[in-house]
Amino acid sequence: MKLYSTNNKDLRVSFKDAVFNSLPADKGLYMPEHIPALPAEFIANLADYSLQEVAFTVANTLIGDDIPSADLHAIIDDAINFDAPVVPLGDAIAVLELFHGPSLAFKDFGARFMSRVMAYFSAKEDKPLDVLVATSGDTGGAVALGFLGVEGTRVTILYPKGKVSPIQELQLTTNGQNIRALQVDGTFDDCQALVKEAFNDGELNQLLRLTSANSINIARLIPQTFYYFHAYAQLLRRGIKEVVFSVPSGNFGNIGAGLLAYKMGLPVKQFIAATNVNDTVPRFLKNGKYEPKPSVQTYSNAMDVGNPSNWVRIMDLFDQDVSSLKAVVSSYTYTDEDTLKGIGELYKKYRYIACPHTAIAYLAAKAYKETHVGNFEAVFLSTAHACKFPDIFPQELASKIEIPEQVKELEGRESKVGSLKASFEDFKNYLKENN
Ligand SMILES: *Cc1c(COP(=O)(O)O)cnc(C)c1O
Repeated sequence: MKLYSTNNKDLRVSFKDAVFNSLPADKGLYMPEHIPALPAEFIANLADYSLQEVAFTVANTLIGDDIPSADLHAIIDDAINFDAPVVPLGDAIAVLELFHGPSLAFKDFGARFMSRVMAYFSAKEDKPLDVLVATSGDTGGAVALGFLGVEGTRVTILYPKGKVSPIQELQLTTNGQNIRALQVDGTFDDCQALVKEAFNDGELNQLLRLTSANSINIARLIPQTFYYFHAYAQLLRRGIKEVVFSVPSGNFGNIGAGLLAYKMGLPVKQFIAATNVNDTVPRFLKNGKYEPKPSVQTYSNAMDVGNPSNWVRIMDLFDQDVSSLKAVVSSYTYTDEDTLKGIGELYKKYRYIACPHTAIAYLAAKAYKETHVGNFEAVFLSTAHACKFPDIFPQELASKIEIPEQVKELEGRESKVGSLKASFEDFKNYLKENN
């Protein structure tokens, strides 16, 4: 597999280089030089394959010789060790549950696959790989649990003190082993600035083999295609052939992976980008002007993104042709008030409790259904378990949220966290003294 930069199509780097750099120096994003089509026979027979088998075929088709088959099998069987079931609710609406991994969010797919790919490419190095990550909650948990115990790697997570939910904090601070958590007296932006400065620091780069677990890393995008194929396989088993996916979107990595799957041959009728009031993409699809805005805080805070970083990838997939993009991608926007109504309606109609991000995808799926006739299933993606966002539910619903095993297990563990002022000097000293 060779990749170019969306800012320079003459550039070519290997998969390994794209994984360790995350971003090309020209600030574009890495994209495969060509998108391979899957054999029509594979698509037609998807119902016969398990999630791991689907994942292997898709990854192998994309990555090619850069990881030999036997090694890729091992990486996938280790990384993708939890299911992604499609749960039919009724009214030709179903939910694709992506929260059965260790951090209870879909980011587990990307983080677990990326960690093992990085460890695979690091096998001959003598220094450990130092992963630095700033998080406002969900990314950090997925990265921490994704890298936990992965040999030859060490993860340092910075999060804003007092600004993550109790379960998110447990996921960050109870790991031990190769995972270190630091709470920063400041905001998420402060955490991000510290990490950025570390990557630019000559002395730290001499001392440590630094890398980011950036959400735009190509090794996080690839595994997010797997569950679209797997969802379609499950629909085929129920005799359903037409599907619309509604994707709760922030940085547009998740829906970007869906569109990559589509370009590889997955027959999807329509993708729906469901956003909160951070609506840069829905506005663009309406008026053709891409005008990023500063992000606004909402209940669905993992989607509070004013300038979605994966959007350039999606435009690249469609060769900048907005009309062919609009033929496949619709979008809907919802407020916090709508979100609460969506949560209430899902429970009332289907006895289903969804997280705020998921509720937005449900509302968009329903809106699309109401305005389009046809014999299709509308599948909305559930990106996180409701228990990660306890504060936004009314009491009577909050008490009904089941606490998954993953959380019960964390509650019994000892929590360990370092504290830091939002000062680069302090962060640098910490990294040097704890090497
Ligand atoms: C990260 C995240 C999203 C947004 O996904 P993108 O790939 O950034 O569009 C949605 N929901 C949850 C729960 C998330 O953690």
